[in-house]
Amino acid sequence: MPQLKDAAYWRAQSTDLLVEARAFIAGAYVGASDGETFAVHSPIDGRELAQVALCRGPEVDRAVAAARGAFQGGGWAELMPRQRKAALLRWAALMRAHAEELALLETLDTGKPIGDTTAVDIPSAIYCLEWFAELVDKVAGEVPACDPQFLGTVTREPVGVVAAIVPWNYPLLMAAWKFAPALAAGNSVILKPSEKSPLSALRIAGLAREAGIPEGVFNVVPGDGETGRLLSLHPHIDCLAFTGSGAVGRQISRNAADSNLKRVWLELGGKSANIVMADCPDLRRAAQAAAAAVFSNMGQVCSAGSRLLVQRSIAEAFIAELLEAARAYLPGDPLDPASVTGSLIDDAQYQRVRHYIELGKREARLLLGGEGCAVVPGGHYLQPTIFATDASSRIAREEVFGPVLSVIEFDELDDAIALANASEYGLAAAFWSADLGAIRRASRGLRAGTVWVNCYDELLDMNFPFGGFKESGNGRDNSVHALDKYSELKSTIIRC
Ligand code: NAD
Repeated sequence: MPQLKDAAYWRAQSTDLLVEARAFIAGAYVGASDGETFAVHSPIDGRELAQVALCRGPEVDRAVAAARGAFQGGGWAELMPRQRKAALLRWAALMRAHAEELALLETLDTGKPIGDTTAVDIPSAIYCLEWFAELVDKVAGEVPACDPQFLGTVTREPVGVVAAIVPWNYPLLMAAWKFAPALAAGNSVILKPSEKSPLSALRIAGLAREAGIPEGVFNVVPGDGETGRLLSLHPHIDCLAFTGSGAVGRQISRNAADSNLKRVWLELGGKSANIVMADCPDLRRAAQAAAAAVFSNMGQVCSAGSRLLVQRSIAEAFIAELLEAARAYLPGDPLDPASVTGSLIDDAQYQRVRHYIELGKREARLLLGGEGCAVVPGGHYLQPTIFATDASSRIAREEVFGPVLSVIEFDELDDAIALANASEYGLAAAFWSADLGAIRRASRGLRAGTVWVNCYDELLDMNFPFGGFKESGNGRDNSVHALDKYSELKSTIIRC
């Protein structure tokens, strides 16, 4: 009889779970040289999950030396692409074999529902790794047209040592978006997970070793902002790929400039606009998608549709549908597979979001929610919250990174596009209409890296680049274009 994977099952599994809390450097798990650790708590109920090695200068230096040595030794960069592919696929297969354990770790570490980590976070990270593994022996260089007395080639070479600094909202997935293309391209990688969610990254390091990824090619240095700062200043790191806040992105750019001008790639925040025109083909579906766009993962999503722009003539009917749809996102116990949302990441984030809600109560009209929820004692649970407001309010302009939606009414298509673009961010946008001409105008006019039409958050497929315009960052994760971040192009010109 197949086992029923209900909340009791996941609770029982979580009591038996072994947690790896050491750094992974040069192919081995190691503690910090001074024995320093930091506590990692589960947002579900506040219980301590582990005391994790706190990496500082000595560990960062060791990881950089291991990564540099592995790169120069050529045991990875100089493999035939199909050999790198085989090793990465073995690693992905091991992750698949441990998918349940990884999903449970991710839920315990982040407070997101087990239904999400089993269906989205872990499978998507594995898919990303497989996708780049499959790509690596299919990319070719170029032979440009030139003077017939010459033969010229343009080849891709790995940059060298890549550091990846990632956030806590999708810990393994955001890490995979960096390490998969970087490793596929032949680089050595040092991954620094967020101090709030380091456990899945530490677990997969051991699986990399089991898969035969050579020593020093993949390293994990858990730590906080100071650990990240040391990486950003390190003179022997060639490239730093970052996902996180704009404030930290700016510091990293400055540190890169002040050290060795390492290449810096930034995936930052967003305040994405979701525009619903009066001729939207299916108002109910659009309302359900609008709720999912901002309340999934408790709103802790960089591309969350946190600004809903609704054409005035349908606003009343649409908001009625939206309020109905939003009620499905009340938080539940993250270990219960029936829960659609769970806990925010920690008390600091909870207080930050509560602050924005209090601000919203003063500057806008509260339509739904606005309070905390008692789900599991010691956790950080919030009601889905909706405000009717205008574009000038702070909740409509600033990234809240929580389950808070601002609804703004507009009259004409051009007003909607102007409102959507009146933001320093430009990560994503969505547009709902039945008019092909309007769709074309909107998709060209919206200054965002992704534009969804008559859907939201659909097709996060590896074939599509993901990243932002303006202060949402530079460069793109995913797709063949991600390889550009982790490769140098070399022109070789031969006189024949
Ligand atoms: P954060 O910027 O606070 O932290 C991100 C990472 O940077 C963590 O690993 C942290 O330890 C590290 N860090 C902190 N200070 C540092 C410093 N001075 N130097 C180097 N590293 C440092 O962000 P967060 O709170 O973890 O994540 C939330 C932010 O991430 C939001 O703004 C969100 O929009 C953004 N995000 C963007 C994307 C995207 O793809 N564009 C995806 C997920 C999250």
